[in-house]
Amino acid sequence: MTIARLTETITTTDEEMAGDLEACHLPALLPALAQATGDLSLLRDGLRPVTAAPPPPQGGLSAEQLVEARELALAALQALRDGGEAERANAGDLRRMMEWMTGSTSASEYLPLLIEELSPFDEDPRAPQWRKDPATEFSVAIIGAGMSGIVAGARLKQAGVPFVVIEKNPDVGGTWLENTYPGARVDVSNAFYSYSFAQRVDWPQHYSPQDVLLNYFRDCAEEYGVREQVRFNTEVLSCEYDDDRNTWALLVRNPDGGEERIEANAVVSAVGQLNQPKLPDIAGRGSFEGPSFHSARWDHDVDLGGKRVGVVGTGASAAQFIPAIAADVEQLTVFQRTPPWLVAVPHYQDEVPEGQQWLFQHVPHYAHWFRFWLFWTTVEGMLPAARVDPEWGPQERSVSAENDGMRAMMTAYLEQQFADRPDLLAQVLPQYAPASKRLVLDNGAWASALMRENVELVTEPIAEITPRGVTTTDGEERAFDALLYGTGFQASRFLTPMTVVGRGGVALHEQWDGDARAYMGITVPNFPNMFLMYGPNTNIVVNGSIIFFSECEVQYILKCIRLLLEEGHRAMDCTSEAHDAYNERIDEANSQMVWGVATVNSWYRNETGRSAQNWPFSLLEYWEQTRRPDPAAYEFL
Ligand code: NAP
Repeated sequence: MTIARLTETITTTDEEMAGDLEACHLPALLPALAQATGDLSLLRDGLRPVTAAPPPPQGGLSAEQLVEARELALAALQALRDGGEAERANAGDLRRMMEWMTGSTSASEYLPLLIEELSPFDEDPRAPQWRKDPATEFSVAIIGAGMSGIVAGARLKQAGVPFVVIEKNPDVGGTWLENTYPGARVDVSNAFYSYSFAQRVDWPQHYSPQDVLLNYFRDCAEEYGVREQVRFNTEVLSCEYDDDRNTWALLVRNPDGGEERIEANAVVSAVGQLNQPKLPDIAGRGSFEGPSFHSARWDHDVDLGGKRVGVVGTGASAAQFIPAIAADVEQLTVFQRTPPWLVAVPHYQDEVPEGQQWLFQHVPHYAHWFRFWLFWTTVEGMLPAARVDPEWGPQERSVSAENDGMRAMMTAYLEQQFADRPDLLAQVLPQYAPASKRLVLDNGAWASALMRENVELVTEPIAEITPRGVTTTDGEERAFDALLYGTGFQASRFLTPMTVVGRGGVALHEQWDGDARAYMGITVPNFPNMFLMYGPNTNIVVNGSIIFFSECEVQYILKCIRLLLEEGHRAMDCTSEAHDAYNERIDEANSQMVWGVATVNSWYRNETGRSAQNWPFSLLEYWEQTRRPDPAAYEFL
């Protein structure tokens, strides 16, 4: 696999290009061609896409409009092949292209982000525009070599800041290394679930399976010089701040079991939110005599073929592994507490058609515009449907007109999927407002699995787990050869099981007291120079890519380090005032989002009931506020 950056020269015939256009994505291709050729007349009013969330295929263009759009695109491709690429587009032209694609003049607030996003692959405008003076001593310890740790390392490398990455696993990849359950696949399109600076134009699938993504992260770690800095099979046990020296001491357990202290000026925690599996607190769980394991600790030595298998959970993980194993096992019993809402994505498991691959590889800016189209429609575009309308009646089943529209659409999908099984439909139809929990992307696999003769869906609550199997509250015991848990993660227990001690001996988990908070999701008062990635309130529910967030966070962290070095400070500590005001704003906004008012079970609330995970605003806002630190929010040491 290569990380592609440059589009290749077009040498294709008209006929071949016309064939490729059958597989193109016109709402993104037309602005890309307008930019590549400089011909803005391609953006005809009559061909403007509809930007509903989720967007209809091809932006809702009719059959006649599609013919017209493809003819225009073919002529533009010929012009590009025969005449070459136009000069770089100016901001005014980009704005017109964006307004055409989004159908919104208010979209212009996105222009600075768009300009950054549309930069040629080899320019990488988010790279640090500075380098540390080699004479200044400053080093960073990154905890975790998953998606966040890799981008942190890549950027520190570019800035010439020495760093070490401490990783408990034997390889990079984090969640994509650990989650090897059958059917594991990303639920955000690759174009957006990838680093902005390491875009591929040759993704084999629209949504990569686990092994493809793991290889992507391995390649990135290699290519950006991060892997060579990783200490594998090494676990951080504790981090302690030295008040006198303004440094951090990390106690680590080495692969040989011995302990060692590592010192650094700053610590970047890149341990993820979904890192510690959560096994359910069900009576008798330890008594089951057969093999049992969690989705994130899949035991590939256990052959499930021909076995009677019980599954607890129907979240995003279980919704992927249940269809993947259903045909192999003798009997599959799924214990469902709360059904997931499904979003219909018919091409979820499909390969990217050859023609579309060709266009990504040959048409300048097409991959960028496709990424921006996804960002606009399926990321920012979904947010209004998650916002609570206080005037909207009882909010149990929907929280606004938009949210109700989403509910109607997804209800119709389930009704269609389970048309032959009204008994199952009654069990799988959620009774809570959509977006209270993560939506599950589906291409029909869920209904196909649950409707199989060897699959049973049980909604009677579990009473206990026995040596033989599972007993439900109606007294029925079902016997199993293996028991699988798709029961999620201890998401609100940020940075566990490490011990973190900050200024004046303050323990992080005591300060948090079960309610993790941070300023920008990144810094915590009393913990100078400790920077969190994927920290409190940086998760997104209705879509979006957590990679976008990690890139914003690392941008902010690098600018903090630059500030420290340029101003000659040793450390910076977030003030309680800035932290508290920020969190008040977050809490207020989360209380107006569907996950803030929903009473359905989800991992989006901590033990105090607060939503310590989710980001309630647009991605644009996070991008804007992490562009540079506000020195007034910090005490410098
Ligand atoms: P999850 O969303 O927390 O789902 C856990 C499931 O286990 C739920 O169905 C839950 O029921 C059930 N459960 C938990 N404790 C139970 C108990 N005591 N008795 C019965 N059922 C119990 O966990 P997940 O599926 O691993 O997903 C976690 C997150 O990881 C997702 O939200 C998503 O952000 C991410 N993820 C992404 C992908 C992807 O990109 N494709 C795939 C997997 C995961 P309740 O709903 O009633 O609590």
